Amino acid sequence: MSHELPKAYDPAAIEDHWAAYWVREELFAVRTPTESVQNQGLDGQSPGGQPSFTILLPPPNVTGRLHMGHMLNQTEMDILTRWQRMSGQVALWVPGTDHAGIATQMMVERQLASEGTSRQKLGRETFIERVWQWRQHYGGAILDQMKRLGASVDWSREFFTMDERLSAAVREAFVRLYHQGLIYRGAYIVNWCPRCQTAISDLEVVHAEQKGHLWEIRYAVLGADDKDSGEFVTVATTRPETMLGDTAVAIHPEDERYTHLHGKRVRLPLMNREIPIVLDEWVSREFGTGAVKVTPAHDPNDFAIGERHRLPSINIMDDRAHINAAGGAYAGQDRYTARKKIVQDLEERELLAAVKDYTNNVGHCDRCKTVVEPRLSTQWFVAVNKQPIQGGASMAELAIAAVKESHTTFTPEMYTKTYLNWMENIHDWCISRQLWWGHRIPAWHCAACHKISVPEPSTLVDPTPKPDPKVCAHCGSSQIEQESDVLDTWFSSGLLPVSVFGWPNFSSNPKLGAPGLDSETCETNRADFDAFYPTSLLVTGFDILFFWVARMMMMGCWFAQDVPLPDGSKRTLKDSVPFREVYIHALVRDANREKMSKTKGNVIDPIEIVKQYGTDAVRFTLASMASPGTDIAFNVARTEGYRAFANKIWNAARFIFMNVDKAAEVGIETPFKIFHDYQARNGFLNLPILGKEGASMEDRWIVASLSKTAGRVNNALENYRFDEAASEIYQFFWGSFCDWYLEMVKLRLNFSPAPSFEEMNQREPTEEEKKAIEGNIEAFGALGVLVLVFEASLRLLSPFMPFLTEELWQAVYDGEPPAKSVALSRFPRPNATSKPSDPIFEQMELLQSLIVETRSLRKEAGVEEKTVVPVEVRTDAASRKIAEENREIIERLARVSEIRFVDEITAGLSKHHTAASDLAVVYEKKVDVAAERERLAKEIAKLEKGLATAERQLGNESFLAKAPAHVVEGLKKQEAETRLLLEKARAAMESLA
Ligand SMILES: [Zn+2]
Ligand SMILES: [Zn+2]
Repeated sequence: MSHELPKAYDPAAIEDHWAAYWVREELFAVRTPTESVQNQGLDGQSPGGQPSFTILLPPPNVTGRLHMGHMLNQTEMDILTRWQRMSGQVALWVPGTDHAGIATQMMVERQLASEGTSRQKLGRETFIERVWQWRQHYGGAILDQMKRLGASVDWSREFFTMDERLSAAVREAFVRLYHQGLIYRGAYIVNWCPRCQTAISDLEVVHAEQKGHLWEIRYAVLGADDKDSGEFVTVATTRPETMLGDTAVAIHPEDERYTHLHGKRVRLPLMNREIPIVLDEWVSREFGTGAVKVTPAHDPNDFAIGERHRLPSINIMDDRAHINAAGGAYAGQDRYTARKKIVQDLEERELLAAVKDYTNNVGHCDRCKTVVEPRLSTQWFVAVNKQPIQGGASMAELAIAAVKESHTTFTPEMYTKTYLNWMENIHDWCISRQLWWGHRIPAWHCAACHKISVPEPSTLVDPTPKPDPKVCAHCGSSQIEQESDVLDTWFSSGLLPVSVFGWPNFSSNPKLGAPGLDSETCETNRADFDAFYPTSLLVTGFDILFFWVARMMMMGCWFAQDVPLPDGSKRTLKDSVPFREVYIHALVRDANREKMSKTKGNVIDPIEIVKQYGTDAVRFTLASMASPGTDIAFNVARTEGYRAFANKIWNAARFIFMNVDKAAEVGIETPFKIFHDYQARNGFLNLPILGKEGASMEDRWIVASLSKTAGRVNNALENYRFDEAASEIYQFFWGSFCDWYLEMVKLRLNFSPAPSFEEMNQREPTEEEKKAIEGNIEAFGALGVLVLVFEASLRLLSPFMPFLTEELWQAVYDGEPPAKSVALSRFPRPNATSKPSDPIFEQMELLQSLIVETRSLRKEAGVEEKTVVPVEVRTDAASRKIAEENREIIERLARVSEIRFVDEITAGLSKHHTAASDLAVVYEKKVDVAAERERLAKEIAKLEKGLATAERQLGNESFLAKAPAHVVEGLKKQEAETRLLLEKARAAMESLA
């Protein structure tokens, strides 16, 4: 058999193939652990008996395209999931997409506009059909990208937040909270987007500084006779059009400038409305004139003042931010047109006291960038701080306790504080959106009694959802209509950890299933929930810590607490949390540490980079820079470097396979077969183990190094130090394995033709044949260790570079691997017998330093590349033994003709010192003394100048005071090095004299 690998590593040629294979073979599917279902894993154990690792993909928007942030997030999740799976866990990674209410509706509305129609023209039902069609066509794009990148998720469990199954969970969550008294309708100032025509949450508003004006307007104070007193009070505003809705002017009760105005009224200009002056401590005496206009319907602070003083709220704008009938003469005008007109009219009436330039922070809609309008409207809320009707803690209290009691932990740790701080100051959650695409709120308004009917919740005993009401629950009228608002997208994604595992469609009584759900489904759901909830880990970005993480914490703890544990006992908070750990990953920035943005034009498209360098190299780049709390400055130069790393591994594989084939040619059955059979029988050898006796030093060393590396990589991954893990593997594979071990072991890989066993039974082999046989045995041993170490190294690298390692691992087994994928083999663990303090490391270091120093001496002496030269070594007995035993290695790797052990290096030879030895190469170089003297003179001059500069800087007190510590450190180091070089150059000059 031969192992043919193409000459050059070409990621494009292998990645598509394996990506498709992993999906097709359903390698990462985890079935529901019922008694009858056996795990498809290697060890033939049922997942019920094994610990499991569950992780949920933060669902990308169905409208999304993969960006670098996704790629980082997915790379980290995939590394951890593959590592856990290979470490013997039942590893389940659940993928899915979010219906993304606003984004998707906008996308389809744009499409409709280009066709000359609109959602209003289509009507609600037809429009929703159109969105589903859109989703059918384009919605899978981002998950297809994920498949191509090899994410090891269970595609059989793919979810979409608008799926029937998940929608049922959303409905149930709403009705439960409603009947627990935790959902209410109320008037509230919301951030209104006039473009999207919906309320958006505070988190969806992006603030940007904008140059504008501060208009100061004079309101006439009324006298006792309700006539103008001739006095004016001046108020300042950045949105003069809102004055149409003013219902008061507020001053601070202790503001002495205005004491005489207490109890007075003013005339609202343009509207000719009399409004009171109220006293409120919220008013800042320092800001503007110390008097403020109060527009309760269009400003959250004014709304609060309005509540305190029972002021009316006058909404003066419609959904498109045009002035409505309440705006009198300005009705019908757009807010900015009205603003201009109002300012003009005030000026004409001499009521404009001043116009000042003013920069303020203006909120924009995150989706469409329109300036949001704070506006009073009726919305639905979750009362997160309220005790439910049945008593007990509030939703927020549970979510706070879960983190305070460490049932859920954050990495980096600082996010614990961020989370708690936000949760402890949380306001009620506005969950309604004025959209059509989304989960329509399951509440019905009665035209007769104006009350609201919401279906009763289901129970654990009977999970059948109660039907939609046909008549009003309060007066029995059939004049009821469903609420037109839909739920905030985060309401459904907040439920994911419970809903993807079947909540609430399971029952303690399997006889009773929800409609469309047979009892078997209920049972499966319940078994999934028992096995996989709480999930182990959530990996996500800081930007959705409040949006999503906090909401999952509230919803998860809230709804899971009612689900008994598998043994029937009550679930405590510890097991109610949606995830045990949260890892907050960093941002991917450009090479200059700038945030990527379309406007700056520095966005790196992961798909493009992948096309250029291969997925493995991009993944390795991200991993090598990823550590908790550190942003990643993505630099293509590093990806190039890791592409070269992949190349190096590819070439190592080719070298190994070439030798396997050579062995086969001389009749030696490859060690693979034995190895393969062993693996198939006994499960994976974690790492090769070598007896001390007889094994060569490099064999013992590479096995010990692999073991040490495996220990460090496992440790790094346990602590989310992707960077350290990647660096350990890189150094091991490139440095220890390729640069040293392969070079050393090459000397023993001499396969030569020899007589077969049968032949030798018939005749005595010749001396030459005996030699060949001995050589082949030696080579066979070397090849065995080489292959074992290489195979284990591929497993070590596999979570980071899944494609390359799959290709090579399958090739190692010549198409008959002991498992369907390297991803289903075992991740290397350190050998119990090997110790980090093994003397082999010190011995190898000694040998390496002899080789390295000889190489550099050769260079200094100007020895030609091909020439072999003798070396003199003065060393202690122990080192001498190592050098003697590895004479051949030194001779080959350092191009040495002879090692002379001496008591004293011959005078006149230039020598190097290592920790244990002095050594020198014996080489007669013809030196042009005059030219050498000239060269040295130049060098000395240059060094003297450099030294003087460094000394001057280090002598400069004010420089030292200002420069950062690391700069000063660097300069001191540089000074010392220059001084040393100068001494050497001077000595060399003297020796020429
Ligand atoms: Zn918008
Ligand atoms: Zn009614």
